[in-house]
Amino acid sequence: MAQTTPNHTQTVSGWAALDNSGKITPYTFKRRENGVDDVTIEILYCGICHTDLHYAKDDWGITMYPVVPGHEITGVITKIGSNVSKFKVGDRAGIGCLASSCLECDLCKDSQENYCDNLQFTYNGIFWDGSITYGGYSNMIVADQRYVVHVPENLPMDSAAPLLCAGITVFTPMKDNDMLNSPGKKLGVVGLGGLGHVAVKFGKAFGLHVTVISTSPSKEREAKERLGADGFIVSTDTEQMEVGKRTLDFIIDTVSAPHSLGPMLDLLKVKGTLAVVGAPAKPFELPSFPLLFGKRAVKGSIIGGIKETQEMMDLCGKHNITCDVEVVTPDKINEAMQRLAKNDVRYRFVIDIAGKSSEH
Ligand code: NAP
Ligand code: ZN
Repeated sequence: MAQTTPNHTQTVSGWAALDNSGKITPYTFKRRENGVDDVTIEILYCGICHTDLHYAKDDWGITMYPVVPGHEITGVITKIGSNVSKFKVGDRAGIGCLASSCLECDLCKDSQENYCDNLQFTYNGIFWDGSITYGGYSNMIVADQRYVVHVPENLPMDSAAPLLCAGITVFTPMKDNDMLNSPGKKLGVVGLGGLGHVAVKFGKAFGLHVTVISTSPSKEREAKERLGADGFIVSTDTEQMEVGKRTLDFIIDTVSAPHSLGPMLDLLKVKGTLAVVGAPAKPFELPSFPLLFGKRAVKGSIIGGIKETQEMMDLCGKHNITCDVEVVTPDKINEAMQRLAKNDVRYRFVIDIAGKSSEH
């Protein structure tokens, strides 16, 4: 346990789930001293990713309680180690999902450490020193500088926070599938939540024709008016799905719940690709005919490497892309998570870590 690791002497106030009820409660714990390669960050904001909900409730059967979630972290550097050259005290910094990796394998050397076999996450991971990692639902974090990025000066720290996970998770497959360089191509985004709404924004920033495929008819108007989506298909409406067949070049599926990929594949043109980034606890249904008759491909993608995360942050700075967020104080984390579970968020909750409750 981190509490007994020798150099873990810094007391941190945070919020944790203690069991699979998923309820988040205030939780005090220890972090390591700032090492030579480390930076210490005063956390200002942390997004509430659906992954936090999966972990809090142990949806995937891998949660080590108590779990302090949070991997969409922005804050200010308060201390740097003697080897740190990338940052100085006072810098605006961001931390996403990665806490460590082996640094030696071909993937790490190729800036794809997000696929390293020894990858450890910002929370519910096991760091190099053997301690369990605790995430951003807390007032400070110590991180190896290799896994920290700069937040561009023009981006607000609250609405930039979700870029660290939601942003990079949709950016990478879009880039890998040549969608950032192909204006006019047709992108489909399945699920208009935290990840999905950033995918729409990236799509529009890079000149794509963007169609949202959603279970929520109530999201159509704002998807078009606020996010600039060109099309909107209600996935439960068979007529709309029929009209949409063979129209899209690439689909990114962000849905957090099990569903059939067949109807989504039918929306792709021949040789189109569907990239899955959502992580439902149960397997997808994947019928073979839409694959066969359209020579289509299904692939997956997990977040992105640090180099690419910085590239994405810089592009967001250049294009002024931020997330649509609802900022909550820490006493409202449970309420926010319940609303997230009910698909009632436009489009990301972000915790104002130092924020005080407005209720007296
Ligand atoms: P989110 O904000 O809850 O969005 C998910 C969206 O999926 C919802 O807004 C909803 O969109 C749709 N949806 C929800 N329940 C559904 C259901 N029962 N049937 C059909 N559609 C449903 O979640 P998020 O934070 O974007 O995360 C989405 C998923 O990606 C989670 O599973 C998360 O763990 C995973 N994730 C993966 C990575 C990665 O690296 N691959 C990174 C981060 C998150 P509509 O209302 O439009 O239908
Ligand atoms: Zn996430």
